[in-house]
Amino acid sequence: MAYVVTDACEKDFLCTTECATSAIHPTSDEAAARTVSQVYINPDECIDCGSCVAICPVNAIFSIDELPAEKADAAEKNAAYFQ
Ligand code: SF4
Repeated sequence: MAYVVTDACEKDFLCTTECATSAIHPTSDEAAARTVSQVYINPDECIDCGSCVAICPVNAIFSIDELPAEKADAAEKNAAYFQ
C-alpha cells in the first residue's frame, strides 16, 4: 500500500521536501518539474507515514485505499510515472 497524489495537485512541491524517503517526484529542481501537471509518489519507496497528506494545502494526497471514486485512476498514474 502507498499514498497517492491526485490531479488536484498544484505543484507547490511542499510534499517533495517533507517526504523522508524522497518518494515524491519530480522535485522542484528536476527538469520534469516544469512539464508535468502534478507530482507523483513512488509506491516502492513510500513507507505510508502520511506526512505528505498533512502538509498538502489543497488536500491532493490520499491513502490508496481512501481514494475518492472519481480519482481511482490516480494510483495507476502515480506508479506509471516511475516505470
Ligand atoms: S506517506 Fe510518507 S513516505 Fe509516503 S510519500 Fe508521503 S511523506 Fe513520503
